[in-house]
Amino acid sequence: MQTMNSQRDKLTRPQKLEPSVPALPASPAQLFAGGVLVAAIMATVCLFGVWTRLAGQLAVFWPANALLLGLFIRFPRLDTAAGWVGACAGHLLAGFIVGDPLPISVLLTLTNFASVITGYLLLAQPFGADARKLLGAAGVLQLLGIAGLASVAGGLAGSFVGPMAFGGTALESGLAWFASELLNYFTILPAVLSIPTAQHREVVRQWRKSMPPLRRAAPLLALLASVAAALLVGGPGAVAFPVPALLWCGMRYGVFPTAVLSLLTTAWTLVAMSKGVLDTAVQIESPAMLMSVRLGVTLIAISPLAVASAMAANRILMAQLRHLAEHDPMTGTMNRRAFAEQAGKALRSARTARQGVGLLVLDIDRFKSVNDTYGHAVGDQVIVLAANLVADQLPDGPLLLGRLGGEEFAVLLPGADHAHTRAVAERVRQACAETAVDLGQGRTLGFTVSIGASVSQPADAGLDRLLQAADRALYEAKHGGRNRVVLTDVD
Ligand code: GH3
Ligand code: MG
Ligand code: MG
Repeated sequence: MQTMNSQRDKLTRPQKLEPSVPALPASPAQLFAGGVLVAAIMATVCLFGVWTRLAGQLAVFWPANALLLGLFIRFPRLDTAAGWVGACAGHLLAGFIVGDPLPISVLLTLTNFASVITGYLLLAQPFGADARKLLGAAGVLQLLGIAGLASVAGGLAGSFVGPMAFGGTALESGLAWFASELLNYFTILPAVLSIPTAQHREVVRQWRKSMPPLRRAAPLLALLASVAAALLVGGPGAVAFPVPALLWCGMRYGVFPTAVLSLLTTAWTLVAMSKGVLDTAVQIESPAMLMSVRLGVTLIAISPLAVASAMAANRILMAQLRHLAEHDPMTGTMNRRAFAEQAGKALRSARTARQGVGLLVLDIDRFKSVNDTYGHAVGDQVIVLAANLVADQLPDGPLLLGRLGGEEFAVLLPGADHAHTRAVAERVRQACAETAVDLGQGRTLGFTVSIGASVSQPADAGLDRLLQAADRALYEAKHGGRNRVVLTDVD
């Protein structure tokens, strides 16, 4: 006889607000590979940043810091000593390639790290949990606050290093550094932090199924149209034309697509303005004014992100509430009402497809004596184990398993005929008879179940009739000696 005291995964559990990060220890080779990967990414983005440097000035676009902070938070496996060393090496390598003198290269790297480390330490605090996951509008606002403080740290460090590296006053350098960091953090960090996990694939699949292609594409088409309208109409207000479409994207798409679309729209607007393609009729006369315009465009693109995050948090809460309303908290199986609803649907589909259907009603034998002898807690353990054993024996596909009450469960088998229903019921009965609850200290407790089954082939009978017939069969099984299956056909 096998013993078992843990819950299996086949039963659904409520979706957690915080997706758990698998914490498998990394091997030295994996650590090294992670460090090399970070170094390669950093060297590449730093080179790109240097390429946008105007003569003797700060880079126009410096994605390295926001990307590094985002990668370390989003992919904790990269956040190791090797990852940090790799990040330093990547910075220095880029400096070496472009011919920056080593002391300047080291100072610039330290300045970049001032903001990354500030952001990292703040995000690592317990209050940064929602910001890390971009959860809800509050999470987005927290992230922006943290990004602001990281940018202040970068600005302070830049006010020392800037004059040495690029000339100019400490104030000019500090402000330029601060503004540039803010722009990069606000646009890039949300997109990196919201990179989807493998778990999201199912969410995307469900979303695709939930609406026709044109409805899915509509917000994106509206965004393209508003960008085109901005080009045609021009003027200072044109930079805000894409906002309604971006808000729509935030409502219909997830956080990641919205963050990417916001990033692309911001980047496009800034590039189009600097190249004169988007004529805002604003005379940009000073670097300070240029920074003001850049920051304004960046800030415009942030609110859709708050909308997307609030909607995502809402969806998770709704899913949790639905799960609570439809499932039995002890076993994770559907409750009676949800089972009736889901089984009813499956039954109608089977009827339409002219397939058969089987229904099992299962009751644990002499369960009162388990409670009386071992106590209610052990009784609960037996109920949970029975639910898991049943779930394990059922064919793949949607799990139509419900707790009808107490220690009684029901299973619907769409597409099943007489033989299949009997085979599944026998498997369940046998699995229960062969498995025991581990009571500790070498003691175990076995149990048996009786199963009443009804079959309708094709599935013309309603759920009520199937349940009544299975109940009668269960009564027979109990009276026939328990630990057995009795099957009845329903016309
Ligand atoms: P039978 O073989 O005829 O089914 O006998 P039985 O003792 O199992 O009788 P019955 O099915 O009527 O027993 C149901 C018992 O299950 C009564 C109730 O005290 C107990 N029960 C109901 N819900 C729970 C629960 O959530 N936890 C525990 N531990 N016991 C429960
Ligand atoms: Mg019983
Ligand atoms: Mg009972």
